[in-house]
Amino acid sequence: MIVMAAGATPAQVQEVVRRAQQLGLTPEVSHGRERTVVGLVGHETEPDLEKLSTLEGVERVVRVLHDHPLVSREFHPDDRVIRFGPGLELGGPSVLLMAGPCAVEGRGQLEAAAGAISELGVRVLRGGAFKPRTSPYSFQGLGEPGLLLLREVADRFHMAVITEVLAPEDVPLVAEHADILQIGARNMQNYRLLQACGEVDRPILLKRGLAATVDELLQAAEYVLAGGNQRVALCERGLRGFEPSVRFSLDITSIPVLKRLTSLPVVVDPSHAAGRAQYVPAIGLAAVAAGADGLLVEVHPDPSSALSDGAQSLDPTAFAAMVAQVVKVAAAVGRVAA
Ligand code: PEP
Ligand code: MN
Repeated sequence: MIVMAAGATPAQVQEVVRRAQQLGLTPEVSHGRERTVVGLVGHETEPDLEKLSTLEGVERVVRVLHDHPLVSREFHPDDRVIRFGPGLELGGPSVLLMAGPCAVEGRGQLEAAAGAISELGVRVLRGGAFKPRTSPYSFQGLGEPGLLLLREVADRFHMAVITEVLAPEDVPLVAEHADILQIGARNMQNYRLLQACGEVDRPILLKRGLAATVDELLQAAEYVLAGGNQRVALCERGLRGFEPSVRFSLDITSIPVLKRLTSLPVVVDPSHAAGRAQYVPAIGLAAVAAGADGLLVEVHPDPSSALSDGAQSLDPTAFAAMVAQVVKVAAAVGRVAA
């Protein structure tokens, strides 16, 4: 990393970029509030970086010896804000609420969910069209027609769309119709999918694998950033534990840990962690208190008839009560739920 001096001029930054390119490196420039940093990804032994330290405007050259330099806070000290959809933000001062059914099941179900959710001021509709199901005999999602329905219903309610993309070859199609692409927990280390998401001009919500360390999550995110897509948010959704009263154990500590190591926004999905609707509000509130930048919550108009994840889905009444509490907890930690 080339750390520029506080008053470095754009021309000086440009010269560092040019010289780095001459050394065969790909520079990524990060403009912070106080300083500009030029990140150069490469093998530690390769170029003679000391040459760059004598250029005008350069304060120092720092070698970052870990496997996820671009996602690191050293490279990008300020919190990253992802702007998307119709004037929406993830990672800014507000806590972004995203909600909707696990899967798009049909027009009636989706309209009822979107209507109830948007009435509460929630601007991002979730819903899976391509579903990663544990059993091949479970409902696999409606595929492309489900994706088109999700877009149509979201537009009618002036909402943005977040939905999962399962395979690299589906990335262009999903990117055409969704505002945020979700990479599911089971695909966190699907490197071809990560690379495909690195090439697309859409924010990515990368879920933590159910047995992945924070470091592995950050290295997975690095694939997307290294591919050229800087708009990545990380999502904690619970880890495989030994406690059977919940589906997964939510690692609440990963929120402050990630906040320290990276400036990427951190989202929490309390639904897949809890596995049971009654626990979802409490752990969602805890996540906001611990610094989460957003929540992803499963809401179904009639959870008992859901084709997937009904047990953990909130009905509209329970979700309305949760949102009212999220607003209060967000305010208590100096943020606004939006
Ligand atoms: C989902 O969001 O519906 C989902 C499948 O989540 P995860 O990848 O976290 O299991
Ligand atoms: Mn689900």
